[in-house]
Amino acid sequence: MERIHVRTRSPQCLEDVTGQVNEAVRRSGVDEGVCHLFAPHTTAGLVINENADPDVGRDLLEKLEALVPSDASYHHLEGNAHAHIKSSLVGHSAAAPVVGGRLALGRWQGVYLAEFDGPRERSVLVTVVAARAGTPAEATPERTEANP
Ligand code: ZN
Repeated sequence: MERIHVRTRSPQCLEDVTGQVNEAVRRSGVDEGVCHLFAPHTTAGLVINENADPDVGRDLLEKLEALVPSDASYHHLEGNAHAHIKSSLVGHSAAAPVVGGRLALGRWQGVYLAEFDGPRERSVLVTVVAARAGTPAEATPERTEANP
């Protein structure tokens, strides 16, 4: 497991962490497997979405703001209730396959830390698990005739 650090630049924004995550995947030495990502925060989350047109991220943030306005009235009096709700909506984890030592993302996909109460220092925990080598029979020898 590796922790990558992200400095978010505004109160609500999407920070592209695809390059940092791919670096962590490379350092793990795993060629084929699964990359699990977790944002250990209550007012920030993770999204995988389009990396070509920045208006997609802008639309996402604007629609989340319309659904959960920053200046509405909430029970939580810390002033960031909207950020807790938005991060719950987008979620705090993501996963993607690793193929050839990199994230096997779609052509137009990127991985983003979604900030809802910034700017501040954030982190993402990156866990890369290698796919198990061998055939199913080799992977479960206790189930073969020769090895009851
Ligand atoms: Zn709070």
